[in-house]
Amino acid sequence: MNPEKLHQKVWEVCTECGIKDFPFDCIAVLKHYGFKVFTYEQARYLRPELYALCRDMSDDAFSDKILKVVFYNNKLCIQRIRFSLMHELGHFLLGHETESRENESEADAFAANLLAPEALIKYQNFHSAPSISSYFDISIAAANHIMMRTRYRSFWYPDKYEAKLLAYLYPASSKIQSDKSGMITCIKIGSTHYLING
Ligand SMILES: [Zn+2]
Repeated sequence: MNPEKLHQKVWEVCTECGIKDFPFDCIAVLKHYGFKVFTYEQARYLRPELYALCRDMSDDAFSDKILKVVFYNNKLCIQRIRFSLMHELGHFLLGHETESRENESEADAFAANLLAPEALIKYQNFHSAPSISSYFDISIAAANHIMMRTRYRSFWYPDKYEAKLLAYLYPASSKIQSDKSGMITCIKIGSTHYLING
């Protein structure tokens, strides 16, 4: 999946669900898309065979997009739970029909970018994995992964949807300029001005 498509999805979810602050309520976001959310414990109580199926499918979470239900393992740490829940939402919103390595990595990329958008990390000038982990309530491992990716992209330039996300999250920011039609034309991050085209 190209990065701009991923950033478009993240922008859509944030605006549709009214996400303004991070960390946000992942269960509320799933409910917004019509999902019922249960813990593995609840599954065990409701139907032991359902619990066995969940455990069989994944240690983390399991979803059925036809029935629109998500089960998650509430015994894990909260950061891992949040990542798993947004991974499951990713499968749904990206229209994944089958299980494949490619779909798994797309759902992972979606979860990471939604929980801690790269544009926000750049805009807020986060420089360390521990600060990203505690601000966004994601695991140190996930934060490290994000740090590695942002360092790897030595030339970083916000795309149209990253710009839209920043304009949505910081509506009163003097660092974001738009033209008469509301299109974002320029964003200032640190001491650099980024011109946005298209
Ligand atoms: Zn998956």
